[in-house]
Amino acid sequence: MPGLMSFEDLKASVADGSIDTVLACFVDMQGRLMGKRFHGANFVETSFEETHCCNYLLATDLEMATPDGYASTSWRTGYGDYVMKPDLATVRPVPWLDGTAMVLCDILDHHDHKPIPHSPRAILKKQIAHLEALGFEAKMATELEFFLFEQSFDDIRKDGFRTLEPISGYNEDYHILQTTKEEGVMRPIRNHLFAAGLPIENSKGEAEAGQEELNIRYAGALDCADHHSIAKHAIKEIAWQNGRAATFLPKWHKDRVGSSSHVHQSLWKDGEAVFYDPSAKYGMSAVMRHYMAGLINYAPDYTYFLAPYINSYKRFAKGTFAPTKTVWSVDNRTAGFRLCGENTKGVRVECRIGGSDLNPYLAQAAMLAAGIKGIEDKMELPPATTGDVYEDAKAQDIPQTLRAATETLRGSAFLREALGDDVVDHYTRAAEWEQEEFDRVVTDWEIARGFERA
Ligand code: ADP
Repeated sequence: MPGLMSFEDLKASVADGSIDTVLACFVDMQGRLMGKRFHGANFVETSFEETHCCNYLLATDLEMATPDGYASTSWRTGYGDYVMKPDLATVRPVPWLDGTAMVLCDILDHHDHKPIPHSPRAILKKQIAHLEALGFEAKMATELEFFLFEQSFDDIRKDGFRTLEPISGYNEDYHILQTTKEEGVMRPIRNHLFAAGLPIENSKGEAEAGQEELNIRYAGALDCADHHSIAKHAIKEIAWQNGRAATFLPKWHKDRVGSSSHVHQSLWKDGEAVFYDPSAKYGMSAVMRHYMAGLINYAPDYTYFLAPYINSYKRFAKGTFAPTKTVWSVDNRTAGFRLCGENTKGVRVECRIGGSDLNPYLAQAAMLAAGIKGIEDKMELPPATTGDVYEDAKAQDIPQTLRAATETLRGSAFLREALGDDVVDHYTRAAEWEQEEFDRVVTDWEIARGFERA
């Protein structure tokens, strides 16, 4: 893989002065990179073994508030430390920052050095291990959709998020002319990420003014989630370097299309695609049918992990390419699950429910758990749906609000068994808190609607 560095490479680069800064990062509940900026010399001498962070970092909201109600940490327990354990297989240069490299860390208990169960990387690793015990390996790809804006993050914030001007003036789906105008931001994103060891496939304009998509070649589930988190971070940073803003808010305007993160999934064994059976309908093996049956059946249980905020649910609207139903279809973009690459070795399922705000570790873990359950229980896949799925009254709905998704998460016996009660309780609390914070706010819409006329 171009870009990835061995620890020996890193030591040599620090010694010759080409690297002076090492970012030790972990992924928080929101999928963000958090951590410290080390002097290279310190990192290669001592801190590569471990460093520490406050354990509130896996119990905050987007604004770093410290809500009560988490069993793992609280004011009462004094907010102690976690160990950040660098995963030295993830050392890579950060070419868009001078003299900088990065490493991703696992989060461990400060005392016994066991993985913290609700840390996103640990949650995904547990499902990967379960899948390996069944003899399979997952290959996943997460598409990243986002909007680019003319102004910088700081200008937009100072303006109270009111004057948001997308970088293009028209729907730029597959447009070469318009996307040429955006190369000042998009070309460094592709090239810097490629040089950092991410197998970038392409970027393209998406179906709204200012909307972009970045595609990264499929990889093992953990690599895929690492790639997603690093790419999302880089997109914001490189936009900022260019005086622009990039948002992964799924729905930034009621009249604009939302942003998704579709997740492509296939299972493999000894380098062979086990989802493929040339003698079966659409080339879908029995393993694939069971996996998809689990994915579809348990979609309401894990919707929270695909749509974690109030805003996430504004995206699920008819006629927008964002799904509203947990059904599958063959190459049909109105269903929650789309069969891709039918009758080929590349046969795979694309989940279209997730928004651009999903945490890829949690989303992939929950979907792997559902697929595994489908395989273990040999679940039957219902027939494919056809036509406009939005109008299919019999099809099961995706939970339509955060409140509803929180309740399906809380009550999910399947997720409690697969992820553990502690993990489900932790994220249920995160979901409740998000709702409580929103419920306390008086929105602009309420004021404008009722101020004079109510
Ligand atoms: P489309 O244009 O129909 O969305 P692409 O060919 O661009 O499809 O593929 C979309 C994503 O699916 C890419 O990121 C690609 O790497 C990924 N992908 C391709 N084959 C597989 C597979 N067998 N398993 C998982 N992901 C795959």
